Amino acid sequence: MNPTLPTTLQEAIQYFADAQRCQDLLSAMRWPQGPVCPNCRSHEHGYVKSRAIYQCKLCRKQYSAKVGTIFEDSPIKLDKWFCALWMLTNAKNGVSSYEVARSLGVTQKTAWFMMHRIRLALQHGSIDRKLMGDVEVDETYIGGKARNMHSDKRAKLMRNEGSFRKAVVVGMLERKGEVRTAVLRTAEPHQKSS
Ligand SMILES: [Zn+2]
Repeated sequence: MNPTLPTTLQEAIQYFADAQRCQDLLSAMRWPQGPVCPNCRSHEHGYVKSRAIYQCKLCRKQYSAKVGTIFEDSPIKLDKWFCALWMLTNAKNGVSSYEVARSLGVTQKTAWFMMHRIRLALQHGSIDRKLMGDVEVDETYIGGKARNMHSDKRAKLMRNEGSFRKAVVVGMLERKGEVRTAVLRTAEPHQKSS
């Protein structure tokens, strides 16, 4: 087994304090086959390490791994996102937004927002926001209406959540310093031509 995989919250905080590690994890979760330009779908890219920005060699557009994921549109750094993700996927008896807030040093409101997005990702088996459809609609579901949901749909969401949890754990395994990208994504991305 890999000794670097965090098993306690303290270890997780240290583990994710490495900004480049977080970037690599995000990139691997986002693009199991390597970064893809959102504009022209090219795999050819350069990387500006200081800004964690990819530049497409074909169309010259710059893009980041955050765009289009649950982590975008927020000033919250990746280390906090991944710690919250770690807490949610490792807590045996659930975790409250107060606990997350205290552990990460953020406000309870911020913790709630993060947990909300992470739960969406767990339910949909992906960090890609597009796969979640209308996020606003899903908020009513998150708000506690799961028991009213048709049992088939609920069962499907539960299954997705289970497999994604596993995928996240696999994604956090490292081998010889390389992030393993094999089984990171359980939901097949829909190839929408936009
Ligand atoms: Zn491009």
